[in-house]
Amino acid sequence: MKPSQSIFSFTLITVTLIFFTTLLPACLLEEPKEEGAQFVLLIHGGAGTILKENMKPEMEIKYRAKLTEALEAGAEILSNHGSSLDAVTHVITILEDSPLFNAGKGAVFTAEGVNEMDASIMDGRDLNAGAVTGVRNIKNPILAARAVMEESDHVMLFGRGAEAFAETQKLTMVEPSYFYTESRWKSYERAKERAQKNSDEKHGTVGAVALDLDGNLAAATSTGGMTYKMKGRIGDSPVIGAGTYADNESCAVSATGHGEYFIRNVVGHEIASLMKYGGSSIKEAANYVILKKLKDQGGDGGIIAVDNQGRFSMTFNTKGMYRGYITSGGQTGVMIYDDEP
Ligand code: ASP
Repeated sequence: MKPSQSIFSFTLITVTLIFFTTLLPACLLEEPKEEGAQFVLLIHGGAGTILKENMKPEMEIKYRAKLTEALEAGAEILSNHGSSLDAVTHVITILEDSPLFNAGKGAVFTAEGVNEMDASIMDGRDLNAGAVTGVRNIKNPILAARAVMEESDHVMLFGRGAEAFAETQKLTMVEPSYFYTESRWKSYERAKERAQKNSDEKHGTVGAVALDLDGNLAAATSTGGMTYKMKGRIGDSPVIGAGTYADNESCAVSATGHGEYFIRNVVGHEIASLMKYGGSSIKEAANYVILKKLKDQGGDGGIIAVDNQGRFSMTFNTKGMYRGYITSGGQTGVMIYDDEP
């Protein structure tokens, strides 16, 4: 064999091995394709420095159980021909009601020691969208976001105006103390002591994206924001195109991470545009935005995204992201750390 032939054979074997050991399994997980109508639901519960060695086993069980409960509740809606919009809304209320996540009960505290929550929702059928920001006494901010979308002429309402509107919609209102949890308060006190905003305890936002049996996409995101954020600070979660985006012509995206970077990079819309105008696959688009663009800028976080064919991606550049998926084909999984497939 000539040297040039042996180099060629070696390269071919190496490329084949890399394909079968790394790229192929990743494609199978992230891009399942089933025949006929199908549904797909993905959820996240925040990204950040989530390390197995720092996680108490009983907490890990609780996280996995709550993510599984939310996935199963959403799948129940989708399998009964419910809409992706209803599925993502319901799933987010379950996660908002859980003190484990930084949304609804369990939201993080601002520098002034109060909860100011943001949420948004988008319908991929017609690009209709709704959002609320800085709300302090709406039990489920995602329901307020949905009401803004369906019952008002606007896309985004903030603070007292959003709360007054929620009351007219007969949504459940609570005292601000309802959102308190001891662990978030301790995080706040630690952040205050250090007076540093880049605490690793800032994440825990919740999100859901779904494709329903009619081929419609929807996305929803809800958060308390970032620990020790400035009063009045608004992150990416309620910003349509940044933390939440859905368009039947491309994909549905929900983000979590350092919101300022997600706003500047218009992450949800960027991923959708790379697919729609650039011809990228969902995986290529998500990898480029999260693993290249954001990472190069120092913007930590991740996304969940599903396209109109049911192919999906759960991409993050942090040590972990609470996440899960379920499909009509019976594929399901709940993952936390970065080494879980
Ligand atoms: N993206 C959220 C924000 O910046 C925080 C998070 O996802 O943890 O408000």
